[in-house]
Amino acid sequence: MKQLVVISGKGGTGKTSLVASLAALAGKSVLADCDVDAADLHLVVRPSPVSRAEFVGGKNAIIDCERCSDCGTCVDLCRFDAIAGEFSDRAVDPIACEGCGVCAWFCPEQAIDLVDAIEGEWYRSESRFGPMVHARLNPAGENSGKLVSLLRSEARSTAENRKIETVLIDGSPGIGCPVIASITGADLVLVVTEPTLSGIHDLERVLGLTKHFGIPSMVVVNKYDINEENTRRIEELATALGAGTAGRIRFDPAVTTAQIEGVPLVEHSDDGAASDIDEVWRRVKWSLSAGRFLT
Ligand code: SF4
Ligand code: SF4
Repeated sequence: MKQLVVISGKGGTGKTSLVASLAALAGKSVLADCDVDAADLHLVVRPSPVSRAEFVGGKNAIIDCERCSDCGTCVDLCRFDAIAGEFSDRAVDPIACEGCGVCAWFCPEQAIDLVDAIEGEWYRSESRFGPMVHARLNPAGENSGKLVSLLRSEARSTAENRKIETVLIDGSPGIGCPVIASITGADLVLVVTEPTLSGIHDLERVLGLTKHFGIPSMVVVNKYDINEENTRRIEELATALGAGTAGRIRFDPAVTTAQIEGVPLVEHSDDGAASDIDEVWRRVKWSLSAGRFLT
């Protein structure tokens, strides 16, 4: 079983559209939407949930005002200013609370309990491209990477149990904890970038991250024809940093049309950017099975 993770230096590079097309080209694979802060792969893949479960991200303090003697200790000790109010209506702000437990430990009346913080829910689904795991964070729900790790673990065990050869992961953008959780243990990372100065800067940071973790990476330039000079710079940078090149995808208004229709681009048309993606998949598939990549 091979795990391919598609990431980008920032949001809005066309990463999820590309993942949807790769899902259509891959045949049956397990899909994991690990871009949980902006989960939208389901809008194109349109999976049917089979089961759902709450995602417990950590702990929140709650105060039992019946037992509170209004000593003020918890307010003084909370470093996150999460406790407000007076005697009888003293309460914890669940968004500010980090669940550290200091207030509960020092409350002289044992009036504070720590309860599970429900940050969202996650789903096991079926789609026409294969099984899918995905999630929805509550407003202000926290994604520390724990939810991403949970989704990846579920995707891996689904692939093993159902003997599916490919796990295709829509990873989190950036270089923080969620993206580290997205790429850890992957067989190949495909980095989507655009030929802009910020795209070059972001690519450098992302490839630094994948190199640090020793994960083979390939780069694909989306909308390469809006600045071919920058596209060349990106490909040279990729090679200099030890990454492979997966190809170039041209700017194509059909991408927007396909999004509006809610279908992967490669199912909407077979020329233009769709044919570029076909070539990208051919190179990525070869690299996944060969364990080395084309430059
Ligand atoms: S530490 Fe306990 S008793 Fe004191 S104000 Fe807070 S909840 Fe009330
Ligand atoms: S658990 Fe920690 S962060 Fe939350 S209210 Fe208590 S002291 Fe503040």
